[in-house]
Amino acid sequence: MSRKKTPLKVLVVEDESLTCEVLKEMLEGWGYTVHTAENGRDAWDTLQKENIKFVIADWIMPIMDGLTLCRKIRSSGSPGYTYIILVTGKDKKEDIIEGLDAGADDYLVKPFDPGELKVRLRAGERILNLEKELTEKHGRLRELNIRLEELARIDSLMNIGNRRGFHETIEKVHHRACRYDRSYGIVLCDIDNFKAYNDTYGHIHGDGILRTVAESIKRTIRLSDDIFRFGGEEIVVILPEQNLVSTALAAERIRKDIEDLCLEHRGSERRIVTVSCGVTAFQNECDAPRWEIVLDRADKALYMAKTAGRNQVASLPA
Ligand code: GH3
Ligand code: MG
Ligand code: MG
Ligand code: MG
Repeated sequence: MSRKKTPLKVLVVEDESLTCEVLKEMLEGWGYTVHTAENGRDAWDTLQKENIKFVIADWIMPIMDGLTLCRKIRSSGSPGYTYIILVTGKDKKEDIIEGLDAGADDYLVKPFDPGELKVRLRAGERILNLEKELTEKHGRLRELNIRLEELARIDSLMNIGNRRGFHETIEKVHHRACRYDRSYGIVLCDIDNFKAYNDTYGHIHGDGILRTVAESIKRTIRLSDDIFRFGGEEIVVILPEQNLVSTALAAERIRKDIEDLCLEHRGSERRIVTVSCGVTAFQNECDAPRWEIVLDRADKALYMAKTAGRNQVASLPA
C-alpha cells in the first residue's frame, strides 16, 4: 500500500552488465525505483549519497566484493536499517553461512527464479516497514518522555515550577554561587489572608487568584529569574547574581504589581488581594554552606513582613 505512494528504492550491485540490466528491468516492472552499481565500492558511494535501504548484491565482484560491502554497511552505524540480499553462484552450505555471517539478511543462488526473488523482496520490504514504524514510535516516545520530565517539574494549577523543580534549581544555583564566589537572591511570597479569601469566595475562585498572582509575578521578574510554587499559597523566586538590595527591589515590584491589580478581597483589612515577601541573599561561600539555611532566612523575613502588618517586604541579611 505505502509503496504506491513512494516506491521503495533498491540498489542492485552487480558487475555483469547483462545480469544487472535484467535485474533492473524486473524490479522496475514490480514497481521499485532501481539504482545500480558495478562493485562494492561504487555501491558504498551511492549509499552515502542516496537514501537507499534495500540492497541486492552480487558476491564476487572486482574492487570490493559483496561480502565486504555487507560488513561495511553493518559496521557503518548509519541511521536506519539496510536490508541486504546476497545473490551469487556460490551455493555450498558454508558459503551461505559465510554470507549471512557477513551481515546479509537473505541469500539467493544464481540462476534464481524471478518469483522467488519477488517474494523475498516483499519479505525484506515488510521488515523495513516494521523498522520504520518502530523508529517513528520510538521517536514519539522519546518526545513524550521529555514532555513528561517537564511536566514532573511544573505545578499544573499555577503553571510555574513545582517544589521538585525548586529543589533541583536551588541546588544548582547555590552550588554555582559557592564554587565561583557569586551571589543570588531569594524572594518568598505568601498571599495575605488567603484562608479568608477561600472562606469568602470559595476554593474555585481561590484557585483563580493563585493563578493570577503567579502570572503577575512571572510578568514582573526577569527571564533569568526562576519562579516556583513553594506550596499552598506560597511562591518562591530565585534571582541569580543579585544581592540583598537588588533582590529587595525586585520583591517590592512584585508586591506593588499585585496590589495594583486591585483584586477584590472582602475578607482582608485592605479589601484587595496582597502579598507579603521575605527577602534574603546569598553573598559568598562564608555565608551559608547549604541553601536550606538561606531559604530559612527568607522564611524568617517573610514572618517579619507578616507580623509587621502584611502587604510588605522584609529583608534579612546573612
Ligand atoms: P497569612 O496572611 O498569615 O498568610 O494568612 P493565610 O490565611 O494566607 O495563611 P494560612 O496559612 O492560614 O492559609 C493558607 C490558605 O491557603 C489555606 C489553604 O486552604 C489555602 N490554599 C493552599 N493551597 C491552596 C490551593 O491550591 N487552592 C486554594 N484555593 N487554596 C489553597
Ligand atoms: Mg560477479
Ligand atoms: Mg502560607
Ligand atoms: Mg498566606
